[in-house]
Amino acid sequence: MLEHDVLVVGAGLAGMRAAIAARDSGANAAIISKVHPVRSHSNAAQGGINAALTDRGDNWEDHAYDTIKGSDFLGDQDAIEVMCRAAGQSLIDMEHMGVTFNRDDEGKLGTRAFGGQRVARTFFVGDFTGQALLHVMFEQLVKSGVQSYEEWFVTSLIMEDGKISGVTALEIRTGQVHAIKAKTVILCTGGCGRLFEPSTNALIVTGDGMGLAYNVGARLMDMEMVQYHPTTIAGSGVLLSEAARGEGAYLRDRHGNRFMEKYAPNMMELASRDVVSRAEQTEINAGNGIDGCVHLDCTHLGERFIMEKLPQIRELGIDLTGKDMIKEPVPIRPGMHYIMGGIKTDIDGQTNIPGIYAAGECANVSVHGGNRLGANSLLDTIVFGERSGSHAADASKGVSFSNFNPDEVVANEERRLQEILDRPDNGDRWSKIRREMGDSMNRNVAVFRTKEGIEETIEELQGLKQRYSSVPVHNKGKVFNTDLIFALELGFMIDCAEAIAISALERKESRGAQFRLDYPNRDDDNWLKHIVVTQGELGPELSELPVTITKWTPEERKY
Ligand SMILES: Cc1cc2nc3c(=O)[nH]c(=O)nc-3n(C[C@H](O)[C@H](O)[C@H](O)COP(=O)(O)OP(=O)(O)OC[C@H]3O[C@@H](n4cnc5c(N)ncnc54)[C@H](O)[C@@H]3O)c2cc1C
Repeated sequence: MLEHDVLVVGAGLAGMRAAIAARDSGANAAIISKVHPVRSHSNAAQGGINAALTDRGDNWEDHAYDTIKGSDFLGDQDAIEVMCRAAGQSLIDMEHMGVTFNRDDEGKLGTRAFGGQRVARTFFVGDFTGQALLHVMFEQLVKSGVQSYEEWFVTSLIMEDGKISGVTALEIRTGQVHAIKAKTVILCTGGCGRLFEPSTNALIVTGDGMGLAYNVGARLMDMEMVQYHPTTIAGSGVLLSEAARGEGAYLRDRHGNRFMEKYAPNMMELASRDVVSRAEQTEINAGNGIDGCVHLDCTHLGERFIMEKLPQIRELGIDLTGKDMIKEPVPIRPGMHYIMGGIKTDIDGQTNIPGIYAAGECANVSVHGGNRLGANSLLDTIVFGERSGSHAADASKGVSFSNFNPDEVVANEERRLQEILDRPDNGDRWSKIRREMGDSMNRNVAVFRTKEGIEETIEELQGLKQRYSSVPVHNKGKVFNTDLIFALELGFMIDCAEAIAISALERKESRGAQFRLDYPNRDDDNWLKHIVVTQGELGPELSELPVTITKWTPEERKY
């Protein structure tokens, strides 16, 4: 019998931090992940992690203000305060666990500038910060003795009387279905970037946790807020970190002009991401680009500097564009990168469903609002991963396990999966549907949006949903049946895509990452509120929640 007080789904930074915290609080904690933990997308984070350290003359209030302004005043200020106050200690904790952060000439922890922030408060390890953090966190996980189910795919959440009582999971290596009992479940399944094509996200980033939670009644909030990163490679969508601009790179149009002068005269290339992406797209649309791109110019930074601070993205540039940033500018364009929206939680990670928690990119504690500042996401995963882990551990004390019959639950889930495998082999493949969805989202729910475009995508999604209901799985085997897994992932992605599109249609204003050409202004009178999507009888239902404002009054946003 598999049973745990706290079961964490997802072994990225948020999940591992949560599991360690739950274990430290005395719970029998376990973690389950569809890939080996260090292959989680957190590994791909490049630029760094934010924290305001007081002995640097920085303070959490300034960090909070920059975050709130970055969010275009849609972030909940109580949650942002929690994150920014905790950042310093969380960073030091990571350093003490063994992360070898870059240091400055005096030997102190080094910082680099990042977008939308008035001071340099981004701590980093070269341009592979996520990898450094994730590997150290994995060592801590192993040391903590938390049970780890690696390469197990969670297929559904088991509910009893409106409460969570466990999960069903497919052991990918054997094809065996398991039921795991849990008093609390923390979803740390990451974002849903791959429902856009292209995206900077790993192929595994498919919104599973959001879909799982949504299907049992959880609320998805701010789903329209999708971040397009200003510096991605055309075609593949691969990211070139904001660290490049943080370290002084310029953006230039085809005439060589630094066009950000027109859009953000003070912050220039380091305005917030939504602002820079819009500026680039405007220039590209006006014919000032180069083959649908603009140039990221690092040539003035010098070889030694680039090799020390940005070695990975130099290599990516060479491999994927044939351009060596030491010698020449690299063509880049805005590309889908991050979802600010997610499963609505409180500051302890609790959702509206008893026993279900969420943390990391799949969650929306509401620290990013309409636009996330670079390097605030790694911070979010660690701060709220820890909080949800300890809170879930406390909440599971004195609670008993559900007495559902695991054999029955497994048999039902096996039957459901077998029905998918038994479908006739004549419908469209999941890959075709996934691609059409990604193209449609990237065409109509991207940097600039209109009513007509979003409606077109919503209609296309209805058709795709229909086709998905009979999607065939060609591989009928048990061992590593990735064909089946990709088909299941697509179901979660379509739910997320629909939530994103209907929220984008609903918000009739421009704020943060949502820019509506038909409503080009921010409208605080009518839209200073969160849009919430829940699953109703007949499909998604929309509702609203207020934005928590403590001491920072919304004002016009300029950079
Ligand atoms: C290229 C790139 C660069 C970035 N750079 C930065 C940066 O410099 N600074 C910053 O702050 N942020 C950055 N970000 C964002 C940040 O890295 C992510 O938001 C964050 O790491 C997400 O962490 P997570 O723990 O929530 O999820 P992930 O790290 O995505 O982990 C998700 C986990 O869930 C598991 N999972 C998912 N579905 C299932 C399922 N059905 N069953 C079982 N397991 C499942 C996966 O196996 C995985 O272990 C970057 C993102 C990208 C894509």
